[in-house]
Amino acid sequence: MADATSSAAASATVAQDPTPDPTPDPTTHPALRSWVASANIAETDFPIQNLPFGVFRRAGTQEAPRVGTAIGDRILDIAACLAAGLFESASDEAQRAAHACASPTLNALMALGTTARVALRAALSALLSEQTAAHARQIAEHALVAQDAAEMFLPASIGDYTDFYASVHHATNIGTMLRPDNPLLPNYKWIPIGYHGRSSTIVVSGTPVHRPHGQRKAPTDSVPSVGPSRALDYELELGAFVGTGNAMGTTIPLTDVETHLFGVCILNDWSARDIQGWEYQPLGPFLAKNFASSISPWVVTLEALAPFRAPLAPRDAGDPEPLPYLDAPHDRARGGFGITMEAWIRTARMREAGHEAVRLSQASALDLYWSMGQMLAHHTVNGCAMRSGDLLGSGTVSGRSKDSRGCLMELTWRGAEPLALPDGETRSYLEDGDEVIMTAYAVRDGAVRIGLGRCVGRVASAA
Ligand code: MN
Repeated sequence: MADATSSAAASATVAQDPTPDPTPDPTTHPALRSWVASANIAETDFPIQNLPFGVFRRAGTQEAPRVGTAIGDRILDIAACLAAGLFESASDEAQRAAHACASPTLNALMALGTTARVALRAALSALLSEQTAAHARQIAEHALVAQDAAEMFLPASIGDYTDFYASVHHATNIGTMLRPDNPLLPNYKWIPIGYHGRSSTIVVSGTPVHRPHGQRKAPTDSVPSVGPSRALDYELELGAFVGTGNAMGTTIPLTDVETHLFGVCILNDWSARDIQGWEYQPLGPFLAKNFASSISPWVVTLEALAPFRAPLAPRDAGDPEPLPYLDAPHDRARGGFGITMEAWIRTARMREAGHEAVRLSQASALDLYWSMGQMLAHHTVNGCAMRSGDLLGSGTVSGRSKDSRGCLMELTWRGAEPLALPDGETRSYLEDGDEVIMTAYAVRDGAVRIGLGRCVGRVASAA
């Protein structure tokens, strides 16, 4: 079995052809190469074209966490570069953005908006390019930290978190299990459905997740009981961070969403299905979801993703046209992210036997029914205020095929068809010791492959 850390780009699926970028950003030019050798390897998630932002410190130290960019298997300490004078010839905008990186969160950088971020990317690209001057490179080498010697933190202080339900395939599968005659509720193709999640229990990749307690009621039980969930699941999702927000009472129109989004990450929306099935009516998800959500530590910016933007998969004939506030030419042409997302599992027994993780699903974010832009425009249509660092979740990313289903509830059809793992184990839902590993990447002819890194979480027994 393949190792999740080297998921093959060759197996990636792209549902739609990318739409040419009208204003290509020079930092994504495929010919660029870095003097950091590991950034030039074809399989790396972090070539010089990516330059995602995250918060780190050297592991085992009490250093102040600060913003860095991932390059190959290293992290460049942006504030250290600024202090060493490496941005003195960069634009004022880039220097302002680099100052914002001497911070334990990305919020200040997010709040500066697109222009500052683009300028900082240009300065970082120039500094890390193999064309850079030898003396600058020598200084910058001292600002590199190996990723495997770093401790990663949540990338942002997340004020609010909203989770959507944007995969029509996921919604149809779940709906079919709950309401065989009426799987998709009548609002689905009109409204990007979502609910307000909880930011206090969002954790960075690598943090163990305890099996939650709660009121459980299996469909066959007559009354509920309280105890550890017996139906713990993951949900493979794309997360998007708000860069600049809006004042209460104003909207972010779909024509402006691209200037308000900062970038994307991988999100695991851990879900306790037995708690969820009992509590969700009439107000929606609550304790089945808010005990933990894990995100990958690196935020890949809209600029890095520009070569991979494409239309979402076409709607079925007969589906309603989006209402005017959910429709814009740019969003139709480039509203989707051509990101392939995968979920993998490695059980305790597999680890003991030295077996690698096995892949459970692979799906494209282009198979979502609603774009991140439509979700953001909808979220603010009533004047709801968004703030820098707010997180939107796409909802489980599932495609049409069985092997593209992004959670165990769909893969095992609510436990009716347990998964057989290669070592002989079976799974209906997660067991203690299971490690869920999510990866995501974007590939396209004529562009350099980029990745979002990994979102990893191991299930610990109920506290
Ligand atoms: Mn979810």
